[in-house]
Amino acid sequence: MSRKKGHRNSKSKGKAAARIRLANNVSADDKDKRTSGQIAVNESHETAADRHDRADDKRDDSRPIHQDDSIQSVSAQDTPTQSSPEPDASIEELTIEPRKPRKLPRWTFHSIIAVLVVALVAAGVGVWGYSHWRHIAVSVNGTEQQVRADTTLGKLAKDNRDFGAKPGRLISVSGKVLKSTGGEPVVYRVNGKKIASVDATKHKTSKENSKEATGVPANLNSVKLPENARISVKSGKDVVEKHDIQRTVVPFNVIINGHGVIQKLRQAGKDGSSEVWTGKISGERVNKGVVTQPQDVIVDTFSPKPASCKVVALTFDDGPSQYSGPILDILKEKGAKATFFDIGTGSAEYPQMEQRMVAEGHQVASHSNTHPDMKKLNAEQLRTDISQGLANIKTASGVTTKMLRAPYGNFGVDQWRYTSDLIDSNVIWTVDTQDWKKLGAPEISDAALSKAYNGAVILMHDGGGDRSQDIAALPGIIDGLRGQGYEFVTIDQLIAMNGK
Ligand SMILES: [Zn+2]
Repeated sequence: MSRKKGHRNSKSKGKAAARIRLANNVSADDKDKRTSGQIAVNESHETAADRHDRADDKRDDSRPIHQDDSIQSVSAQDTPTQSSPEPDASIEELTIEPRKPRKLPRWTFHSIIAVLVVALVAAGVGVWGYSHWRHIAVSVNGTEQQVRADTTLGKLAKDNRDFGAKPGRLISVSGKVLKSTGGEPVVYRVNGKKIASVDATKHKTSKENSKEATGVPANLNSVKLPENARISVKSGKDVVEKHDIQRTVVPFNVIINGHGVIQKLRQAGKDGSSEVWTGKISGERVNKGVVTQPQDVIVDTFSPKPASCKVVALTFDDGPSQYSGPILDILKEKGAKATFFDIGTGSAEYPQMEQRMVAEGHQVASHSNTHPDMKKLNAEQLRTDISQGLANIKTASGVTTKMLRAPYGNFGVDQWRYTSDLIDSNVIWTVDTQDWKKLGAPEISDAALSKAYNGAVILMHDGGGDRSQDIAALPGIIDGLRGQGYEFVTIDQLIAMNGK
């Protein structure tokens, strides 16, 4: 009986312990299900109690270890000895026994989780290992080498001490080294693309200083190297200290070659310069001499000589005017082409004439804007007159020309010096009809017919006064020269025929 009671006691203690554990195990789920699952819980309770009783009975047969035993041992720990109060029977009735084991055993579930975790870790280690231990081929300045796949450009550069490349130095105006760094940084390229690196000279006070101390600009560490990357590493360029520059103009010269009716510009003039540098750090003063060579004006002078034909160029100056129309009519009737050297103010006054000259196949060029003696103008006045004369032709006819016939033929070295960027040629004449003397149409005609030669440039006028004698003389001049075998060409055509 005493054994039975003792057993009873331990049984009660076991149940109490189970109650505590199970009370703790009642999850929110269970609570939620309580209403709908009440009957099931009760059934479970009954079944469990029955099973428990059966287990009790079997215990008499000295069945070794059982779930209750383990509960008992937990109970022993929780409730030390006799001081533990006897559990109430009513509580015993309400005790919820452990639920049935789930269909899927817990150890299986845990095993799956464990396997998954191990697999994930293994995969991670594998990926890291693959990128870390795998080697790829790259070439640096043309030399191939193997590097770990996760090597950055920064690490490669650091490990190889920038492959011997050095940052540029800061040098004085005389070429002395002021600082071994301070020039341009080492230049890195990956597959031709320049990797912007930190400029050591511009970050003196920045937090990058510590990284620069390693010699590897910080941003290189973020550059990953693709397989077969072509890497180039070049030393940075030296940089000259900041300095003041004192410039002196070195003027160009004017070179006029040869003799003839056509002056054609081969090269426009451009001033050069010499410099004296004063270093802001070193204080050195260095004469750098001529740093920009001047470019001379070069003019080639010649008289075109057509080789395979017999031509003359009729030229009319000082128009357009009211006399230009009748002259254009005669040229049209005779089928002859001429060149008109127009005054800019006349072009502005007779734009229709300017347009007609162009429309009927004649050449128009400039005879200045106001017909000054150009040798009496200063540089600014000359440039203004020539510019306006060319602009007026452009406005009147749309023609852009840089050909000039200087009034009175006065155009020398200084005039070329001042205007070689405005004009490209200056055209004189070889046969003067002296129409300006107004000796009469026959005299004008005789002068033209008697002095003409192959390649002659004949001077007449369609403006600047009464030109009725020119109009009267022109038909006879054209017919007479044709009778001598001449054809009429423009100045551009004549120049093109030189030697041909
Ligand atoms: Zn003139």
